[in-house]
Amino acid sequence: MYFSYSLLCLAISAAIHNTSYCQAAAPQVDSPNAIPQEVIPAEDNEDPVEEKLTPNAKFFIPSGGIALLTEQADIDLFTKGKDIGNVQDSPKLPYRRLVQRTIMPTEIRPSYGCTLTFDDQLVADNPSSGNAIDIVKDLAPLNARAIFFANVPMVSGKSVNGIMARNNTSEKRLAACKKLLESKRAEFIKIIRELIRVKSPADEDGNAEYACDVFNHTAFHQNMSRLTVESDRYKMCIMGIEFIEECLDEAYRIERPDWKRARYFRFPFLHDPEYHETKTALNQTFTELGMISLGETQDSKDFDNYSHKQAYISMLAAKQNKRYNPKYGKYGQTEKPIALFHTKTWPKIKRGVIKAISEK
Ligand SMILES: [Zn+2]
Repeated sequence: MYFSYSLLCLAISAAIHNTSYCQAAAPQVDSPNAIPQEVIPAEDNEDPVEEKLTPNAKFFIPSGGIALLTEQADIDLFTKGKDIGNVQDSPKLPYRRLVQRTIMPTEIRPSYGCTLTFDDQLVADNPSSGNAIDIVKDLAPLNARAIFFANVPMVSGKSVNGIMARNNTSEKRLAACKKLLESKRAEFIKIIRELIRVKSPADEDGNAEYACDVFNHTAFHQNMSRLTVESDRYKMCIMGIEFIEECLDEAYRIERPDWKRARYFRFPFLHDPEYHETKTALNQTFTELGMISLGETQDSKDFDNYSHKQAYISMLAAKQNKRYNPKYGKYGQTEKPIALFHTKTWPKIKRGVIKAISEK
C-alpha cells in the first residue's frame, strides 16, 4: 500500500525522529537570524552520497490506526478530550460522538469491497459457537481484516441484574461491579493481545497488515436505551466501557508500542440512549475517551444470520453500500461499505463470507 505525498512526509518525519506513527510535526519556519548555509562545491572525484530518503521511497503504515488519517477532522474523532462539536449537517443537534454513522475513517476499502465487523464475545461460551481467534486465523491468509466490537468475557446483562439484586446500596453495587471486572482483566487483556498480534502475509516489500483490531461494545452488553444518568445500571455501564478502554490500551501498549489506535464503539443492540441527560453525559464520557460510535449497516442480527448463504448475500449488499435484511434483501444506503456479523456465528457463516472475499 502506498501513500499520498503528505503521508509520505509524515512517515519521513517519523523515520527521522525515530518515532513511528507520530502526529505531523509543525512546519519548520526559518528564523530571521538563521545563518545561511555555506555552499560548498562538491569535489569532482567525490562519490555522490546516495539519498536514503527519496520521494519515491515507499513507506508502509498498517491500516487500522489513526496514523493513517490525513484529515484533521478525522484525527479529532479519536483525540481524547477533544470537543468535536455538534452533529454534522445540523449544528443545532448535540451528541456528535454518539451519532451512529456508518463511517470508519481508519479502514481503507479492501480489495474485497467492504469492511468486516463482528460483534459481542471474543471467546465462545459453548463449543459450537465461534471464537474471534478462529476468524482472524481464517481471514489473515486471505489478507482480510476483522474488526471486533467486544464485551468482557463471561459476563452479561445478567451479571448486572445479579449485582443489583444482591446489593442494596449504590456503593456496594459499584464495588461488586468493580470486583467482577477486575477478576476478568488479565484474561481479557490476554485474549486481545493474542488477536492484535496476528498479521497477514507480508507483500513483496515485506509489509504486512494487522489481521484485526478490537473495539468497545460495553462490558456487559446492557441495553442502553432506557438508562438514566443517576442510576446504578448507568454507572456500571460506564465503569465497564472505561474498563474495556483500559484493557485495550494495555493490550495495544504491549503488542503495538508505537500504535496510535482508533477508538470506536458500537451500542449493544444498536440502541443509543433515549434520554437527553443520558446522551449529554455519555457524549461527555466519549469525548474524554476519544471515542465515536459506529452504527449499523446491516440488519444481519445473529438470530437471522446463521447461514452462509445469507452471509454471502449480506456481503454482496455491503459491497454495494447497501443495508441488508435477511427477510427483505438489500435496501437503503450506507456511507461506507461495512458488513456486520456476530463472532459466535462464524462456524455457520464462514463459507459465505470467505466466498465473497475470494470473489473480490
Ligand atoms: Zn452486540
